Amino acid sequence: MKVVTTREELRTARAELEVGPDTAGGDITVAGAARPSGVGRRSVGLVPTMGFLHEGHLSLVRRAREENDATVVSIFVNPTQFGPSEDLEAYPRDLDHDLALLDGAGVDLVWTPQVEDVYPAGFDTYVTPGGVADVLEGARRPGHFRGVATIISILFHLCAPDRAYFGQKDAQQVAVIRQLVRDLGLPVEIVACPIVREPDGLAMSSRNTYLAAADRPAALVLSRALQAAGRAWADGEGDAEALRTILRDVITAEPRAVVDYVSVADPRTLAELTAVDPAVGALASLAVRVGAPRLIDNLVLAPRA
Ligand code: AMP
Repeated sequence: MKVVTTREELRTARAELEVGPDTAGGDITVAGAARPSGVGRRSVGLVPTMGFLHEGHLSLVRRAREENDATVVSIFVNPTQFGPSEDLEAYPRDLDHDLALLDGAGVDLVWTPQVEDVYPAGFDTYVTPGGVADVLEGARRPGHFRGVATIISILFHLCAPDRAYFGQKDAQQVAVIRQLVRDLGLPVEIVACPIVREPDGLAMSSRNTYLAAADRPAALVLSRALQAAGRAWADGEGDAEALRTILRDVITAEPRAVVDYVSVADPRTLAELTAVDPAVGALASLAVRVGAPRLIDNLVLAPRA
């Protein structure tokens, strides 16, 4: 496994990945356009992360490994997606442990840039996503998705992946990146991977480390609320406000939890719904403060057959 830091090292190492057996075989189809694989043309899967890796991240790495000849992972706590009062400095980091996990998982190349490698002196170009970034997390974290869209654009440009892997845990991030790829015509296939949970249902997150031991059981309200809404949807409830009420009621019954938002929204635009179209389904999502950390989780309410 190669570990590089500067943009130039990344560019060189990325080019070296092209050389080798095309083990996946065949042409690679990206956004409808076939890229000829040819002799030695190897597909590359990219997994962007902020490090402090857990099973959720590793599930993306495994999927990337399955579907591509080479796998690239980036580890970068991206300052432009943190607000001034957010946890940039405190964000958990453990690079040595992360690299050991990635080596064990069979990753080919890791990019661990410094801030100045990503944002060189004088950097002054940002990618600003539209309406899908203005609601939910975007409404509470102004500028967050501008930072996300900017770092992802830089990563896609420097890594030139065929496919990029993201967790459904951050469902709005997936929606924003899909819109970015559509709008700019980027030749990358976006693969969204299922949420990996602890055995008791808590969605894995690097920020779970902020949870006080006394608050840990209370953090289960997020998955419990989503399950309750999912059961109601499965039983025929299609009124979005009724589903939001179910989410809110489960959370407010837990004294250690404070609701930030609950949402039942169109899965693509993330606009709040009045009635859920059974042919389309919805994304149920929420943000809840449990002690210090603010946790997010979501559940896809799948279309009814
Ligand atoms: P982060 O390091 O938090 O920026 O996450 C990097 C990637 O891992 C993002 O695409 C996340 O959505 C994904 N991810 C984080 N937690 C999970 C999880 N519990 N299950 C699946 N994917 C996850």
